[in-house]
Amino acid sequence: IEGPLMAGMNVVGDLFGSGKMFLPQVVKSARVMKKAVAYLQPFMEAEKEKASAGERDVAGRIVLATVKGDVHDIGKNIVGVVLACNNYEVIDLGVMVPCEKILAAAREHKADIVGLSGLITPSLDEMVHVAREMAREGLKLPLLIGGATTSKAHTAVKIAPNYQEPVVHVLDASRAVPVASSLISAQHKPGFAAQVRAEYEKLRTQHAGPKIKLLGLAEARANAPKLKFDDLAKPEFAGCRTVAPSLGELTRFIDWTPFFHTWELRGVYPKILQHEKHGEEARKLFADAQKLLGQITSQQLLQPLGIYGFFPANRVGDDVQLYGDDARSQVLATFHFLRQQMDKGDGTPNWCLADFVAPQGAPDFIGAFAVTSGHGLAELVKKFKADHDDYNAIMAEALADRLAEAFAEWLHRRARVEWGYGKNENLLPEDLIQEKYRGIRPAAGYPACPDHTEKNTLWQLLDVEKNAGIQLTESCAMWPGSSVSGLYFAHPESKYFAVGKLGRDQIEDYHRRKGMTVPEIERWLGSYLNY
Ligand code: SAH
Repeated sequence: IEGPLMAGMNVVGDLFGSGKMFLPQVVKSARVMKKAVAYLQPFMEAEKEKASAGERDVAGRIVLATVKGDVHDIGKNIVGVVLACNNYEVIDLGVMVPCEKILAAAREHKADIVGLSGLITPSLDEMVHVAREMAREGLKLPLLIGGATTSKAHTAVKIAPNYQEPVVHVLDASRAVPVASSLISAQHKPGFAAQVRAEYEKLRTQHAGPKIKLLGLAEARANAPKLKFDDLAKPEFAGCRTVAPSLGELTRFIDWTPFFHTWELRGVYPKILQHEKHGEEARKLFADAQKLLGQITSQQLLQPLGIYGFFPANRVGDDVQLYGDDARSQVLATFHFLRQQMDKGDGTPNWCLADFVAPQGAPDFIGAFAVTSGHGLAELVKKFKADHDDYNAIMAEALADRLAEAFAEWLHRRARVEWGYGKNENLLPEDLIQEKYRGIRPAAGYPACPDHTEKNTLWQLLDVEKNAGIQLTESCAMWPGSSVSGLYFAHPESKYFAVGKLGRDQIEDYHRRKGMTVPEIERWLGSYLNY
């Protein structure tokens, strides 16, 4: 192990570090290493050799965890594999890990570094909490931050000031090793830490600069778009229905481009397969993906399940009311939306999703959905991990994510047909991926509707937990992962936008409409506040 295998892994690590090898190759090399070690382990134990990895001469020990309330896993798994390849011992605590458990594991394993990961905005707050607790308990180890919504700016402004030790944002797996080794090396740590500190100090100064100029909420509302509602379609039914499409049906709706991004191969499918530099690796990866997808499909290893519905709906200010009857007298649910407040100065409107729904008096509708391809995933991943096969474990998670998005696309198409206006649409799968159809399906937590807590309303409306088996964590992440939810808007002019920064006046208005306290709203929308 410490001879040829480690020497081989060092070569892989160096080539990856210098951009001459790609992530899938690294993960496959790690599989060879892991399987070899697993094979040798019984012999080592028999010889009473130094058997456990803890006694091996490791480069460092790193505790990794996805924070409480979040289910982000793929990126963390990839970072774990890449670190392990470089002779780090990785203690991966999994997803939805409470702060106390992270701190306890750091102590128990005498970790050299703690790494936190998260996918959704509420996790940023949880990371701040973990940093504070590490400070309060006097821990002395560096903290790494990674995952989709994390950023260098957020790490610098919100997390780092809470903890005296180095706090470093890690952009992707290829950066994890150089950062970890700089932080562990007694020689390089002081210089590296000072450099990060200076860089983050600069970011904090920039951030503290003048806020952007916003319109008052009343002014923004006065500049709402004036849309026509003379072409309202009526869905075939009102209320909800469950769906359980076959995996085979979903496959042709898969958008493969993000799959390659997950594996850190940049480019657009199918062109990426011919990429000058990493085309060959992309082709191999794609072939492996097809193979596993074939198995998953033929053995029904994942069980797609979804719920969706149509409801009579009208706009009331920046809210949308949903009704339980044709007379629209019984309010079933109310969705609350936020409006752009930026001073555009170019004549374009200040958008709010509610603008796409007709005001009271017109027979408009809205749709809602939640789908998952995550049922069965945990078992599948567990099986691969037990076989020391992280490559296929990560592959399975990546495929399940693709299938969830494909499911959302598939169901959206069906909804447009049932809504009527999509009956003669005749779009190819690639047109669907480019969303060339009429209507949108915004998802809570995304830029047009950044408030994740709106999912609570959606969950009640569709009884998602009972009908599709998807739960919401305390941060409103969907569990199992590989789930997608949102609302359907049918207006021909409906489109995605970003609400951007919000003024205090809108937060107070939102508080009155939504019945959540101002501090609570400020916590959920922290990164959107312009004050
Ligand atoms: N084909 C892609 C689809 C996912 S990304 C894939 O397979 O990964 C596009 C989806 O993200 C949209 O359908 C919508 O649900 C959501 N989305 C994107 N931009 C948004 C915005 N500004 N506001 C709300 N939702 C948005």
